[in-house]
Amino acid sequence: MITESMIRGIGMTSQRTRERLVKRLVEKGIHDLRVLEVIRNTPRHLFVDEALASRAYEDTALPIGQGQTISQPYIVARMTELLVARGVPARVLEVGTGCGYQTAVLAQLVDEVYSVERIDVLLQQTRRRLRSLKLTNVRFKHSDGTWGWKSKAPFDGIIVTAAPSSVPEALLSQLAVGGRVVIPVGQQGGAQQLAVIDRTEAGFEQELFEPVSFVPLLGGES
Ligand code: SAH
Repeated sequence: MITESMIRGIGMTSQRTRERLVKRLVEKGIHDLRVLEVIRNTPRHLFVDEALASRAYEDTALPIGQGQTISQPYIVARMTELLVARGVPARVLEVGTGCGYQTAVLAQLVDEVYSVERIDVLLQQTRRRLRSLKLTNVRFKHSDGTWGWKSKAPFDGIIVTAAPSSVPEALLSQLAVGGRVVIPVGQQGGAQQLAVIDRTEAGFEQELFEPVSFVPLLGGES
């Protein structure tokens, strides 16, 4: 759990800027109080380069190096809200760790997070960052997340923060019955849409939500 004193201890004194962000998210339609509370408590400025820290509480994506971005807070909140809407999943697979902001949000809501990233430098930084925030219920893996994380499956929830052109089969097969996947789907540069896929006894049910813009889900490791 990230406490107020930890946030103060690491230099984040402006509760007000975070309150403003939360207000903005409410205006944009986020209403899950559990998600809003976690966003209120998560020091996003520690997930970006110091030079960008002053912009950390704007509702916008920012560069994190290696050609990648930290997702816009609205999108993190929206995807998390969709993931927990039918009940908070216990074990969650995240594909696309990046700087770990979404990971940190999840770690404060669910029991266990398994996060996979293909760029090793990002993964190492994020591992340290989450450790210093005392978020200890996260396991990381340097791998191509298209394959999921078979030895830890099945998962009650899967969240993908890079966009494939279609939903990878392996992810669907690693989803527990009753579980849910939240994933952006579509061609890079073309239209992407947020998709929610539920696994029921009978099979898979998909629902589409708003248009989004993510970096592509790439194959291989780097
Ligand atoms: N979740 C982050 C945003 C990550 S950006 C946040 O909270 O802001 C997307 C990330 O997905 C990048 O770090 C990128 O390297 C990673 N990625 C892209 N394709 C991947 C793949 N096949 N497997 C694992 N990670 C992948």
